[in-house]
Amino acid sequence: MSDAGGPAPRRVSVPVRVGSVTVGGDAPVVVQSMTNTDTADVDSTVAQVSSLARAGSEIVRITVDRDEAAAAVPKIRERLERIGVFVPLIGDFHYIGHKLLADHPACAEALAKYRINPGNVGFRDKRDTQFSQIIDIALKHDKPVRIGVNWGSLDQELLTRLMDENAESERPVSAAAVMREAIIRSGLLSAERAEELGMGRDKIILSAKVSQVQDLISVYSELGRRCDYALHLGLTEAGMGSKGIVASSASMGILLQQGIGDTIRVSLTPKPGGDRTREVQVAQELLQTMGFRSFVPVVAACPGCGRTTSTVFQELASDIEENIRLSMPEWREKYPGVEALQVAVMGCIVNGPGESKHADIGISLPGTGETPAAPVFVDGKKVATLRGPTIADDFKQMVADYIEQRFGQGVTPAMKSAS
Ligand code: SF4
Repeated sequence: MSDAGGPAPRRVSVPVRVGSVTVGGDAPVVVQSMTNTDTADVDSTVAQVSSLARAGSEIVRITVDRDEAAAAVPKIRERLERIGVFVPLIGDFHYIGHKLLADHPACAEALAKYRINPGNVGFRDKRDTQFSQIIDIALKHDKPVRIGVNWGSLDQELLTRLMDENAESERPVSAAAVMREAIIRSGLLSAERAEELGMGRDKIILSAKVSQVQDLISVYSELGRRCDYALHLGLTEAGMGSKGIVASSASMGILLQQGIGDTIRVSLTPKPGGDRTREVQVAQELLQTMGFRSFVPVVAACPGCGRTTSTVFQELASDIEENIRLSMPEWREKYPGVEALQVAVMGCIVNGPGESKHADIGISLPGTGETPAAPVFVDGKKVATLRGPTIADDFKQMVADYIEQRFGQGVTPAMKSAS
């Protein structure tokens, strides 16, 4: 039997400190997100940054698009700290970033990183000057930058030049290939320029976002091969609902498996009034299901089938999951290590006992024609058989007791097994 399996070794990248968080090097892949509030609206932005951070976003990006937004940034930082939220804030700048950062030094100081889009930092001779101004300010405040190329705002001069070169080439490639090369080149040339201006490699993160899965894989595979800058992964305009989740997971999953990617953002379009924290949840689940990190206890549930007798099974699985999600902000503090917990909720005897034994705590509910009894397994051993209408509540209580007993009083699993 082969011992092979698992992801490729992580690509070597230069670690970058973003406030209190390290991106790249040996650091775990960082989850980040972005607000969709008007940054000038301090109350809403504080509320959304706080909920994203509490959901587990380790870095949060905010739009800084005008004077009012730049002026609000230090207030947002201060208000967040007052409520105990210390998540690093990233400023997303387009077109006038150089001016906003120069005119609002408190904003420049309050942010932990600046995102620059080389495609819209300025045009022709102004581009170099405005790009240099942002880098100078970043150097002055000792802040890192993300050079974030986006195919929707790609440097048109560079694209035209590469298209012309391709047309004159003896072996021209497709227009799509030239576009991908322009995206990569735009990021690398801007990063080189930042280095020429005195910025260390440990202050530069690169991203090159496109909206098609195959393009993203191709662009980042090449970018990863050509440089050792820390890489921010993200599929831009991923879309709504399951389409966005599948497209982001498919593309980023393949890259992460190849060892590429130091921080990820899942760009989901929420429904009007929808929960912005969904993008954090999806990013965490992507990393957790691939085995890179643990964020929340996993609930393994069978899909259910004709042998599932009632909705008790679905209700219990979804109840437990919801309960875990809502409790995690508190549990993270109270029960160190709880994110590694595995719970199983199974619909019948076919796979129920087997799967439940593999979990830390699992229940096998009775299927059609089975005795109305639900064996519960803890650490692989059957410890109880639940019966009657309170099966669901009894099991939830057993999960709560298990967490308290195993993870309570600051006793981590490692400490427990060592004791
Ligand atoms: S464990 Fe039972 S109920 Fe669940 S999918 Fe398998 S056969 Fe169906």
